[in-house]
Amino acid sequence: MSMTVTSRLAAASAGEDAGKTPPAPDAPPAPRSVPQALLRGAMGCCPACGARGMFPRYLKVTPACTTCGEELHHHRADDAPPYATIMVVGHIVVPLMVLVEELYRPPLGVHMALWLPLTLILCLALLPPLKGMLVNLQWALRMHGFDPASDEYEPLPAPESAPRPAAAQP
Ligand SMILES: [Zn+2]
Repeated sequence: MSMTVTSRLAAASAGEDAGKTPPAPDAPPAPRSVPQALLRGAMGCCPACGARGMFPRYLKVTPACTTCGEELHHHRADDAPPYATIMVVGHIVVPLMVLVEELYRPPLGVHMALWLPLTLILCLALLPPLKGMLVNLQWALRMHGFDPASDEYEPLPAPESAPRPAAAQP
């Protein structure tokens, strides 16, 4: 048992030394911490090295970490971040709305002036950290292409600014 753990750790460190080269298909995967990945994702940080800059734009995930080169384009967050955001914001706003209504019975205009902006602000503020957490969770669980040994793994596509090969001359 301990031999297995030792050999896994040795293989993991060997894989780190190899840089971006994917490990051999039969190499055991290096352990990835889910809590650490979630924490880093909530702060918009790379799951592998913790450097900031996962989102160069509001919700645009960088294809690869600019610090350590970890490929992040494998994520399939899709509509999970909005779904999670709606769940969280709903559980904040709806109880507050009911509480204020029960305590003060304000006019409908006051409700609208309170809850519409609060809902909008909370949604916009929570979308990036929740998306970061979901992307980093996929990384930590080696989902989709985050496992170089999986069939879904695709190497980072070349940047569009790279010079294209010249067309063959007749
Ligand atoms: Zn990184």
